Amino acid sequence: DTTRPSRERHKPCEISFEFFPPKTDEMEASLWEAIGRLAPLKPKFVSVTYGAGGSTRERTHATVARIVRETSIAPAAHLTCVGATREEVDEVAHAYWEAGVRHIVALRGDPQGGVGGAYHATPGGYAHSTDLVAGLKNLHDFEITVSAYCEKHPESASYDQDLDVLKRKIDAGATRAITQFFFDNDIYFRFLDKARKAGIDIPIVPGVTAVQNFKQTANFAKKAGASVPDWLAERFEGLDDDPATRRLIAAAVAAEQVFDLLDRGVEQFHFYTMNRADLVFAVCHLLGVRAG
Ligand code: FAD
Repeated sequence: DTTRPSRERHKPCEISFEFFPPKTDEMEASLWEAIGRLAPLKPKFVSVTYGAGGSTRERTHATVARIVRETSIAPAAHLTCVGATREEVDEVAHAYWEAGVRHIVALRGDPQGGVGGAYHATPGGYAHSTDLVAGLKNLHDFEITVSAYCEKHPESASYDQDLDVLKRKIDAGATRAITQFFFDNDIYFRFLDKARKAGIDIPIVPGVTAVQNFKQTANFAKKAGASVPDWLAERFEGLDDDPATRRLIAAAVAAEQVFDLLDRGVEQFHFYTMNRADLVFAVCHLLGVRAG
């Protein structure tokens, strides 16, 4: 059967893109090439991450500020609790508000040592994402997006603990959650079901990653508590030295994933772009999103 009714709907999907702040001039150029290519797709917002341990404070701010100055896209600045006092975090948030930024992705943050390391609250800082959301809302009326973990955050004892934390973030003012990436859509739908049954009714937008480099993605997934199915590893098997084929496979994998999500009723997608446009642009095109 080649008819897939959801693809023939006229209502366009809502998309958003995530970028990371560049370290070098070369990376800056490729980021802006990617933003230039993806901006005409009119994303709902584009978000810019905050490095582990708060290490990119200035670069995140500079990237977000340039998005405000040079594009008409709404930016969302990621902000974390790590490595700064409450006053310092509030100062950064206030500077965003002053610069016209109204949307924050509020996270506890990866520890100083990076993903998978031990987290220690910074003395005088916000201890948890729940506190950060409340603090930001107290400061200004930001739109707040938070994270959600379909496979449970690695430090959480149970799904119930995770759902309880998500509820607390919503009670503190969050109005959207974006998930950690996943490859098995059933995992997302099982989580969605649990969340809805727990009374969570905000949008839980699937975070979709186009696998630019399978080994890197698999390593990251392991630390972040996201499972990598055997079938995915098999698809990239033997292609370590063949980037051109890897890219085609990555596009096929992402297309298959988003079509299935779409067919099962998903209308909002958040793409982890890794600052590259091609794959994500192609997948958005397949979703019916057109430049305009
Ligand atoms: P949280 O929801 O805060 O949960 C983390 C752990 O803390 C869980 O075990 C939870 O149960 C526990 N917890 C939360 N609140 C409380 C509380 N009040 N009391 C007790 N326990 C509590 N990291 C970065 O450093 N920079 C980024 O820009 C960034 N962007 C991200 C974007 C998305 C969409 C996602 C999914 C993750 C992102 N991360 C980022 C990673 C994230 O910071 C890490 O996964 C971190 O380990 C958890 O932070 P969190 O806000 O996602 O999780």
